Amino acid sequence: MVPPTTTQTLTPGPASGSFGMLRVLGVPIRLHFTFIVLLAFLLVTGLGGRSSIGYILYVSGLALSVLLHELGHSWVSRQYGIRTIEIVMFPIGGVSRLARRAKPGEELWIALAGPAVNLVLAVILYFVATTRTPILNLSGIDRATDDNLATQLFIGNLALAGFNLLPAFPMDGGRILRAVLAGFKPETEATKIAALAGRMLAISLALYALLSGQYLLVFAAFFVYLGAAQEAAAALGRSLTAGIPVRAAVLTGYHPLTHDSTIRDAVNLTLSTSQHDFPVMHGPQVVGLLSHQGLLRALASEGADAYIGCAVERDFVTLPADADLAEALPIMARATTCAFVMENDHLVGLLTTQNLSEFLMLRRVGLDAVDVR
Ligand code: ZN
Repeated sequence: MVPPTTTQTLTPGPASGSFGMLRVLGVPIRLHFTFIVLLAFLLVTGLGGRSSIGYILYVSGLALSVLLHELGHSWVSRQYGIRTIEIVMFPIGGVSRLARRAKPGEELWIALAGPAVNLVLAVILYFVATTRTPILNLSGIDRATDDNLATQLFIGNLALAGFNLLPAFPMDGGRILRAVLAGFKPETEATKIAALAGRMLAISLALYALLSGQYLLVFAAFFVYLGAAQEAAAALGRSLTAGIPVRAAVLTGYHPLTHDSTIRDAVNLTLSTSQHDFPVMHGPQVVGLLSHQGLLRALASEGADAYIGCAVERDFVTLPADADLAEALPIMARATTCAFVMENDHLVGLLTTQNLSEFLMLRRVGLDAVDVR
């Protein structure tokens, strides 16, 4: 199988709903808007016994611990030659997006690196906290003051390591569990177990949160559930597509446009077919893509009689026909248009998200019914 190759648009874009950018060790760090909401919430509620400066230091210290945790993952994945596309800070922690999926052996060490960073930080903070008093003073820890900032952060880092080591997706512990299970079970089955554990954990956490009135935890439970469900769906998709070439799911009955077509031609084709995106051809060669959004913009600004040239996009996603469909899944999940499936520089057909979900559904219902050659 040939790995998918792509033009510029294939460099995956930033996660939706996230903004801001800072680069640490060459890794872009972005904040998800829900993370900002949580920060604001923490700063507005309960300043406790601390001065506002102390409280801001505490919240910043925790956020920094989460960031260092993620950078731990990035550093180890780089040792395996896996680039980190970005780190996005969410309320239940950071999420590192890797350029490729780690193999089980690699995943084990990448997952362990995050909690390990928090444990190292906890040890350092322990020594900082015990410089003033020889014994770590935990009395009055529930009443946080500026004096016990190091102790608070020590406890915070222990909690971060502990929570992340829970053997359930999407926590690091879930990845460790999957990597260990993958040693003697098929990988999809290992993922299913870790994802099921994740959902059970989310439900127990939500129940506990509701019963004890800790409503912030409901928020965390929600994210855990979402993460576990996403992992399970991704694993199912992989199991239905692994080893199958992209050509098996390709839409071959497509309508191209030529470079001298007008906007009106494209509008008519959009109405008479079910196609949203069109390959733009010059003879046998693909020269660009006319997306549905691009067509709407051009129709509004240039009018129906203009040539499509003004709306043709030169950056488009291409996939080799014999690439592994499982590798194309994450690419298609982020793509906003169809992908062009190529063989020897010639367009074989289009891979659209609709066609791909149809393919997955058919494979799921009748595994052998779909011709996968
Ligand atoms: Zn982690």
